[in-house]
Amino acid sequence: MSQLRPMIVGLTGGIGSGKTTVCNMFAERGVEIIDADQIGRALVAPGSIALQQLIALLGQDLLTPDGALQRQRLRHLIFTDVHARHQAEAILHPLIRAAIIRRINDSSSSWLILAAPLLIESKTYALVDRILVVDTDETLQIQRTCERDHSSEDEVHRIMQIQLPRNERLTHATDIIHNNGDLANLQQQVAEHFERYEKLAHARQNNSPAS
Ligand code: ADP
Repeated sequence: MSQLRPMIVGLTGGIGSGKTTVCNMFAERGVEIIDADQIGRALVAPGSIALQQLIALLGQDLLTPDGALQRQRLRHLIFTDVHARHQAEAILHPLIRAAIIRRINDSSSSWLILAAPLLIESKTYALVDRILVVDTDETLQIQRTCERDHSSEDEVHRIMQIQLPRNERLTHATDIIHNNGDLANLQQQVAEHFERYEKLAHARQNNSPAS
């Protein structure tokens, strides 16, 4: 087992760019994935302290009668009320970050993927060794998101507006996957990145004084 912490590849991209699809392709190759969204969802399970705090600040009407979070309502609130968004982030982001750090410390992988839609916008940024951006032309991004979520173009535009602009995100990229082609093309790029990360992680382990 390695004594070094894993090399961390932060994976990010705009809504509908293909992050989940790319993560699934890496996972099929046995790569460990830490998914910030999944951690966030688990944190606000019914009865959790984080959910109680959210409700205390943002209102009881975010709950269903049986005490679960109405995600759609929270999403709407966050996209229409900047103050509410900042309050929700102040509660959830430090908890998500702490859970991510625990997962990294417990990992025995030589490298792993930390998938976070707001990787660059948030402090999660400081945890990663490389940034892999999944990039898609905006027209395709909107079309794929609308088909997946049955949402309107307007809704997708609104979400894109609070995310980092595409060009700015790309300036932070160490690596880029261009998701403008078909799934076979995407799979080919994932295979190439996988090989590269395997090599980089092993070189890093072998150069380590601890190895
Ligand atoms: P994200 O996780 O970034 O929001 P997803 O991975 O869910 O994006 O991709 C958005 C939608 O586009 C999904 O329905 C997915 O199946 C589809 N998709 C992603 N990449 C491709 C591709 N190369 N060709 C066709 N459909 C794709």
